[in-house]
Amino acid sequence: MYDLIILGGGPAGLTAGLYAARSRLKTVLIEKTYLGGQIVNTYQLENYPGYEEITGADLVAKMEAQVRKHGLEIVLEDVESLDITGEVKRVKTANNKTYEAKAIILAMGATPRKLGVPNEDRFIGAGISFCATCDGAFYRDAVVAVIGGGNTAVEDALYLTKFAKKVYIIHRRDQLRATKIEQEKAFANEKIEFIWNTVVVDVEGEYGVERIRLKNVKTGEESTLNVDGVFVAIGYDPNTELVKGIVELDEYGYIITDDDMKTNIPGVFAAGDIRHKLLRQVITAAGDGATAAYAAEKYIESLKK
Ligand code: NAP
Repeated sequence: MYDLIILGGGPAGLTAGLYAARSRLKTVLIEKTYLGGQIVNTYQLENYPGYEEITGADLVAKMEAQVRKHGLEIVLEDVESLDITGEVKRVKTANNKTYEAKAIILAMGATPRKLGVPNEDRFIGAGISFCATCDGAFYRDAVVAVIGGGNTAVEDALYLTKFAKKVYIIHRRDQLRATKIEQEKAFANEKIEFIWNTVVVDVEGEYGVERIRLKNVKTGEESTLNVDGVFVAIGYDPNTELVKGIVELDEYGYIITDDDMKTNIPGVFAAGDIRHKLLRQVITAAGDGATAAYAAEKYIESLKK
């Protein structure tokens, strides 16, 4: 029997793990694939205090070294089902193991959203990518399109200009959602061209991506753009499949918590991108993780009274 189970090994889960381990809670962190979550795919972070610049991979490596130094138990297993409404929280993994604890922190993050166009699945990994920092280098001297208008889209586009000769940013509105500093960099970059008020209707090509079909949402006009690659950066969906119908979610499927990261179920906390919140960043995920671990510790103490 553990004191605490943490689901998810991104910045929220790792920070919760750090705080829990230092509070001497008997804790296990369960991660499905690899530690770090989305920041593993972030080329350069400039807004994590203390580091003027650091790659996502380097920051994760430092976080992992830190939690291991403090003795956090980490297992890489796929979670199959949860039984978390009672006093004992149970997590069943795909290899038929059951973990039990007094409290649980849900920090499973969010997954990049797909375009939802007919040929998308055919070209994923063959011209359609969700990770510019993973696949950008394959597009040396190529023409690529980035879809979206948020920070991810703009940062991906800027990163891709290191390799591609031309980068289109295709956005469904005529204004970016990205922060002003990123917008300024993109507007000033000669390799980047914006296509406004436009969505992708489909992706075409024989073996790989050769062109995309576009539609102007204002005029309804359709057009074709020749590109060698498409980078999709249109936001994320929360990884809340396991807790649907159990924990209270908002209309987009994010977990609702109070300021102390408590969900509607006693002993169940949530932290990071999986949570309904204003700002999804590494720093806010880490902050959530610290708060969740502290709140979980207080909850566990209250059980003894
Ligand atoms: P986001 O901020 O949710 O932006 C998604 C973009 O995709 C929006 O411009 C949205 O258009 C567009 N979009 C959504 N669904 C679409 C669809 N079906 N078809 C076409 N376009 C669609 O997502 P994000 O850029 O991935 O960022 C996620 C979070 O991480 C944000 O909070 C962001 O600030 C943060 N982030 C921060 C940094 C940083 O600070 N360094 C870097 C990356 C991400 P609309 O604008 O019309 O809604």
